[in-house]
Amino acid sequence: MARCEVCGNDYGMSFEVHAQGAVHVFDCFACAIHRMAPICEHCRVQIIGQGVEVEGHWFCGAHCARAERGAVGIVDAV
Ligand SMILES: [Zn+2]
Ligand SMILES: [Zn+2]
Repeated sequence: MARCEVCGNDYGMSFEVHAQGAVHVFDCFACAIHRMAPICEHCRVQIIGQGVEVEGHWFCGAHCARAERGAVGIVDAV
């Protein structure tokens, strides 16, 4: 059985996530989020929704992107 790469749990219902050419194995979504979710570079929250990417930097929302980058014209992806 596949083993969760975050907590090491050997769980029969584990699942794979294919991302950017790599395959990750998790036993639950909590572990997948812990491993896969980018961190907002302004408020450090884990980005579980779509988030906002500005010039290679990830933010949880447009307000954080503006606060950190000083960029104007950034809007949340809809
Ligand atoms: Zn796990
Ligand atoms: Zn944020």
